[in-house]
Amino acid sequence: MKNIILFAVQNAGKGTVAQALKEKYNYDHISTGDLLRERRKIDDEIGRIIAQTQDAGELTPPEVVYQVFEEKISHPECENYILDGFPRNVEQAIKCDEMLSKIGKDNYIVVNLTVDDEEVLRRVTDRRTCVNCSKIYSTSYEAMKPKVEGICDDCGSEVIFRKDDGDIDAIKKRIKIYHENAAGLINYYQEKGVLFTIDSTQTKNAIIEVEKIINND
Ligand code: AMP
Repeated sequence: MKNIILFAVQNAGKGTVAQALKEKYNYDHISTGDLLRERRKIDDEIGRIIAQTQDAGELTPPEVVYQVFEEKISHPECENYILDGFPRNVEQAIKCDEMLSKIGKDNYIVVNLTVDDEEVLRRVTDRRTCVNCSKIYSTSYEAMKPKVEGICDDCGSEVIFRKDDGDIDAIKKRIKIYHENAAGLINYYQEKGVLFTIDSTQTKNAIIEVEKIINND
C-alpha cells in the first residue's frame, strides 16, 4: 500500500479524508498540527513557541516541526502513513524527502484536495473536534454530528470548537500562507510525478477518488 501525503487548504476535509482511509486501510495518520498541539502541553520554551504560533495562525518554526515529525515517523510501529499538514512548503518538502529516504519510507503519492476559499470559510464555523482523539464533527451535516451532542462517539471525550478555528482573521491568514506555498509544493511534486489533484467539495467523493488511486497501485 502506497503512503500518502495529503495536502489541502485548512478545512477542505483533509482530516475527514485521512480518518476514513485510516479506518479502512489501517494507515497511521500523522498530523503535525496534532503532534504540535500535544507537544505544547509541556510548558517550556518550545511549548510556548508552538502555542504562540498556532494561536496566531502562523507557521511553527521548521526545526520544531521536524523534531516532532521525525520522532513519530521513525517509530518502528509506524508502517503505512498518511501525512496531514506536513510538508507545508518546498523547504519542508525537501527536508521531508531527506528524512523519509533516510529511513526507507519514501514510497508515497501526494493528494492535493481542492475547495473554494468561500466554502472553506463557511466550514470553519461548522467544525468541532474531539479534544482527545481529534475526530472531526460537524454541527450541520447530519452524518457528521456526534451521537450525543458534545461527546466523541469513539472515545467519549469532549467535542469542542477548536480555539484556532474561531478567529476569522487567523483563518484568512492561514489561507493566504497556504496559497503562497501551495504553488511551489504543487510544482515540486508534479515534477516528481507523484501528484494527484482531487476536488473535495463533496468530501465523500474525494475519499472514493483517493481509494481508486491507492487500490490501482
Ligand atoms: P493544522 O492542525 O494542520 O491546521 O495546524 C495547526 C497549526 O499548527 C498551524 O497553523 C501551525 O501553527 C502549526 N503547524 C502544523 N503543521 C505545521 C507545519 N508543517 N509547519 C509549520 N507549522 C505547522
